[in-house]
Amino acid sequence: MDLNKLASALITDDDLLPCEEYEKIYPERVKGEKAEVTRLAPSPTGFIHLGNLYSALADERCAHTTDGVFYLRIEDTDEKRKVDGAVESVIRSLKYFGIDFDEGAEINSPLNNYGPYYQRQRAKIYRAFVKRLISLGLAYPCFCTEDELNAVREVQTAEKKITGYYGEYAKCRNLSEEQIYKNLAEGKPYVIRLKSQGSTDNKINFRDEIKGEVTVTENDQDVVILKSDGIPTYHFAHAIDDHFMRTTLVIRGEEWLSSLPVHLELHKVLGFKPPRYAHTCSLMKMDGDTKRKLSKRKDPELSLDYYRKAGYFPKAVVKYLMTILNSDFEEWSLKNPDADYREFKFRIGKMGKSGALFDLDKLNDVSRTEISKLSERECFEFLNEWVSEFGTDKDREHFKDKEYIIKVLALIMGVGGKKRRKDIERAEQGVRLIDYFFDDTFTPEYSFRFDDRTVNCVLDVFSDMYDPEDDNTVWFAKVKSIAPLIGFASETSDYKAHPENYKGSVSDIAEILRVAVTGMPNSPDLCTIMRILGKERSIKRLYAARRA
Ligand code: GLU
Repeated sequence: MDLNKLASALITDDDLLPCEEYEKIYPERVKGEKAEVTRLAPSPTGFIHLGNLYSALADERCAHTTDGVFYLRIEDTDEKRKVDGAVESVIRSLKYFGIDFDEGAEINSPLNNYGPYYQRQRAKIYRAFVKRLISLGLAYPCFCTEDELNAVREVQTAEKKITGYYGEYAKCRNLSEEQIYKNLAEGKPYVIRLKSQGSTDNKINFRDEIKGEVTVTENDQDVVILKSDGIPTYHFAHAIDDHFMRTTLVIRGEEWLSSLPVHLELHKVLGFKPPRYAHTCSLMKMDGDTKRKLSKRKDPELSLDYYRKAGYFPKAVVKYLMTILNSDFEEWSLKNPDADYREFKFRIGKMGKSGALFDLDKLNDVSRTEISKLSERECFEFLNEWVSEFGTDKDREHFKDKEYIIKVLALIMGVGGKKRRKDIERAEQGVRLIDYFFDDTFTPEYSFRFDDRTVNCVLDVFSDMYDPEDDNTVWFAKVKSIAPLIGFASETSDYKAHPENYKGSVSDIAEILRVAVTGMPNSPDLCTIMRILGKERSIKRLYAARRA
């Protein structure tokens, strides 16, 4: 059979470059020997999940700890799954977590020499190589219909054989020249399949960068490489793209491990040296007593949007993921509590070989610790970002007064004090904690433990004495001075020694003032709160809390 003629009849483009040209267009990258070129290659479905971030973090670390390149390729061969704005959303989501690409789709970079980075725009490259494989007798057209393929699968299943298109079942593999041209003349749709040279009798020993030594069975399936719409399958596009984008290390989910024999064969017939592979294990969670994969349907925490909306501190999510990625990260982080996670020596070989457990409680814990370390200004930036996207109109109004909020945050977070506040795990909690510093969100439900006369007396007397210029000592002396007027002990120790002699103690007086000013029996230092609120607002609150 004249294979060149067949190749031209099947791949009709008249503007394809000779395959060798692509080696020149996309030359080897000039990088150090150790430099890793990694990529994230999502489909533009609009759903970017924790698994993507997990994998992107490994990609990014491998590239950036070796002076390599991390790029974004969009695998859009399945037009039906495409969602508008999905690419921007991937970039924005990862950026939120501090992960930036060096080159790729929608990345404005002078390094973009290996594009286009959308697979649909690379059709000519794929078709040039498909044409070459056909002319070498390594690929052929298949005219089988969906019904025919289903019928074969049924027979294979009934006979307990491996399903697929191979060996005796590969009907179109040996079509005569006459039959092929007849089918073409009749306008029958066709796909192009690889003419596999492999045999399941052969094993391949292979070294995965995460799983270690793996033995796989050689491929013998005549997989589809070009679909009937002229667009390649993932398998074929992967081989072409990772070769010409000069990827050195493919980090991808372990669900692809079973396709590895196909990918190794494709690289071989294309004459390419395969990249190194690292197959990451799936993220799991405990569901009762059982461990299971995180699921899009059941687990909102799988979506990256969940963390943005809930207001997780992005660095905390990344730090927590680092603890799953490399088991010695946690220890390093404890020894170096103030170091940036990027200083840690990340290694792909230290990644877990099976099921990585994702534990939301642990993440919350890391988040509380990270937030507790923020300065009041960093905390403002963090909360403000959440407020601008997810807060209420009132929140946004409040956050316009940056300096006021910064004062409030310094107090709330215990900045400069001995004990930093360690119970805020998400932005929303932080924002709600400062609601009482604004009149329109100050909605107290006063609950006093003393009779109305006592409460009113405390509020009135203190209002008359209050001076925002007073320091803490003077402020407290004034609170104490109310005690004898209402039969309370000025010293808590006196009260403790003889509770029967008093109606309460000085700390109860402070509590009455606190409930009036903040609406709560517990709060940070009340004297500072009143100073931040200002005299007028503080007095107003003392008055508003009076019992009728
Ligand atoms: N588009 C594939 C996916 O989203 C990429 C797999 C790979 O990284 O090679 O699963």
